[in-house]
Amino acid sequence: MNRRAVLQRLIIAASFAVPLVVAVFWAHDRLGIGKPAPDYVAHVTLPDGSQLVGLPPIQGIADASRPLVVIDAGHGGHDPGASGPNGEKEKTVTLALARAVRDALVADGRVRVALTRDSDRFLVLEERAGIARRLGADLFVSIHADAAENQDAGGATIYTLSDRGSDAIADQVAARENRVDRVNGVELGGRSDAVSSILVDLSQREMRGRSQALSDLILREGKSRVAFHANPQRQAAFVVLKSLDVPSVLLEAGYISNNGDVRDMTDTQWRTRFAAALAQAIQIAMARQETSAATP
Ligand code: ZN
Repeated sequence: MNRRAVLQRLIIAASFAVPLVVAVFWAHDRLGIGKPAPDYVAHVTLPDGSQLVGLPPIQGIADASRPLVVIDAGHGGHDPGASGPNGEKEKTVTLALARAVRDALVADGRVRVALTRDSDRFLVLEERAGIARRLGADLFVSIHADAAENQDAGGATIYTLSDRGSDAIADQVAARENRVDRVNGVELGGRSDAVSSILVDLSQREMRGRSQALSDLILREGKSRVAFHANPQRQAAFVVLKSLDVPSVLLEAGYISNNGDVRDMTDTQWRTRFAAALAQAIQIAMARQETSAATP
């Protein structure tokens, strides 16, 4: 090819490439495409469904001085979550697990419990945290079931909040669990001003420490009773945990894509073991929190 032909091809290539590059920069700058999520979740008025959802009943001992734990069954309604090899739905699995944990906590009687949902209904992620906040919860646990293309992937994983995921897999899981917030077509992210960001930062640091302690307890109490993933404690940017100022974790109870795990998670006996372990961890965390609150 002579130099003239090469030059002609370069000009043709540039005539396509330059507008493309300009468009990508414009989209990144003006539309925020490809930018990392902001650090804080701002509370914006949604065009639809902006009314506050009704608060669920508080179950257990009728003593308002007892700690209140909010258990969140992931997904629900038109959002089925991930699905299993035989059509098992994550939203059904998580509801059964959440109810089992609620029953274990109520039977023990030391803490009060509320479920964000006790039926097959849809809640946006913000509403789940909002229920916990409006009830004045002391602890928040969101229960999910994981999914992976690799059908051998199995075991439970405990997630705590981070602006950045602990690894690429953690980011993928967070992306999948957060996706539902785009259902309403509203961007929930935003920025707060400098002063409030410092306060938010301090309170978030405190909450992250306590959330990590809860994660440690779940692993400690759970590992003799249920199988955990080889890398069982991770951090990721989960929207459902983001705006909370109470210790909170998101627990992927197992992989719905794994035959053994899905058999376990839909088995009454396994669920009872899982619930006993999680209830035990929650009770210890609450007892510690009360002790530290009582000590000046
Ligand atoms: Zn999920």
